[in-house]
Amino acid sequence: MKLHRIPAAAAVALVLSVTATACMGDDGQESGSKSHSGETIRIGIKYDQPGLGMKEPSGEFSGFDVDVATYVANELGYDPELIEFVETKSADRENALSRGDVNFIVATYSITEERKEKVDFAGPYLLAHQDLLVKAGSDIDEGSDLDGGKLCSVAGSTSAQNVKKNIAPNTRLKEYSSYSECLAGLQNGAVDAVTTDDSILAGFAAQKQYEDQFELVGLRMSNENYGIGVKKGDTATLELVNKALQKMVRDGSWGKAVKANFGLIYRYEPAPRIGVVKE
Ligand code: GLU
Repeated sequence: MKLHRIPAAAAVALVLSVTATACMGDDGQESGSKSHSGETIRIGIKYDQPGLGMKEPSGEFSGFDVDVATYVANELGYDPELIEFVETKSADRENALSRGDVNFIVATYSITEERKEKVDFAGPYLLAHQDLLVKAGSDIDEGSDLDGGKLCSVAGSTSAQNVKKNIAPNTRLKEYSSYSECLAGLQNGAVDAVTTDDSILAGFAAQKQYEDQFELVGLRMSNENYGIGVKKGDTATLELVNKALQKMVRDGSWGKAVKANFGLIYRYEPAPRIGVVKE
């Protein structure tokens, strides 16, 4: 699904929480009706992760995270034209939520105990696994093959944190601020491999400009349970988002969205159960 970017006009709505604007029906239930008198909802996504969160050169947004965000926003009563997507890089996510820059974040954001000290998570809504992306034909078959080599990941990601635990201890980790920079490094030989979630790596590898250049090693080094980050303590929003995610799976929209975004490029896991985080 593609969306047009909303001009930055409605920054005013920043301080309004989702809770404050959710609509109540006659029965006291959240109705999801569209009576928000035009205010926008701000949702944090990635801008450079094909298949997940992508801002196209045309200004449109695409990817599974974008589809999940759009569905959830709609359930909260916001039509697509009332969504303002905001870039939240890996290292910025906790701060963006605690500052109130965004209402929630749908950005390949793994649920971890450490992060739960600062933010709350709805979901999970997708299970991915950490992997390595290498040049096609590379003889790197497992993490230990990287001993002494240079590995790229992104600052503030679980992938960078896991490197010492799961990959050769003598690997030199280069932390960039985005995965697209890591990909450029892999292409020009500045690094020997890129590590992050297989969902993200598969999306990059499938890009036309990278055709036949890269391959995933297939290591499944961790479970990455993607959650929707909300401000710590905002249980009302958390519950509404969880309800929306449950409905998205139940009515078949989740299945359609994974298929449309990942199709043949990524063997995605079935929809996780809300509240069940796989260790
Ligand atoms: N899912 C992992 C994380 O939340 C890696 C992907 C990312 O950096 O967004 O850290």
